[in-house]
Amino acid sequence: MKIIFASQNPNKLNEIQSQLANYDVVGLDPLLFSEELQETGATLDSNARQKAQQVWDKTHESCFADDTGLEVEALDGEPGVYSARYAGAQKDANDNMNLLLHNLSDKSNRKARFRTCISLCLDGIFYEFEGICEGEITLQKSGEKGFGYDPIFLPNGSKKTFAEMSLVEKARISHRGLAVAQLVDFLKR
Ligand code: IMP
Repeated sequence: MKIIFASQNPNKLNEIQSQLANYDVVGLDPLLFSEELQETGATLDSNARQKAQQVWDKTHESCFADDTGLEVEALDGEPGVYSARYAGAQKDANDNMNLLLHNLSDKSNRKARFRTCISLCLDGIFYEFEGICEGEITLQKSGEKGFGYDPIFLPNGSKKTFAEMSLVEKARISHRGLAVAQLVDFLKR
């Protein structure tokens, strides 16, 4: 079964293809989607739905979209829905991590969680899934793998940051991995 993953992020496509190995998961066709998908919602759920809707409207093919946020307890859930552009429109991962480390420098509570919402569209009907990974923000960056905030996120019960894990290790416990596992269970039914 072919299914379109509504993302231009090759890292995320890799992660998801490794979990949905029995499906033909393809990224967005750059000819059809030359501009970034709109994500103007105030919540992760509404952004995921908005992105899946745009792909369905243009292709009428099975598709899904995700939206993820890093929610830091001592910062009242920030950066949340603004995780990609926390430090500005340039969406730079290092700038985002530096700002977060700075904003947490006087806080003892470093608890944080990643939350992923997925919106799947089959035949014009939408289904929602969610995955959460609890952890904490480290004092400094560690690891070279992954993307985004991976070097400063230590999942609960782990001695490694996400950036020190292989794709398979990360997918087993990550927010996106857990949300995709639900999607896989649903597709198997
Ligand atoms: P998106 O909605 O998946 O594009 O995620 C928004 C932002 O959250 C990304 O630009 C990253 O900064 C961050 N992010 C999402 N997923 C991850 C992850 O698995 N590890 C680290 N950062 C992530």
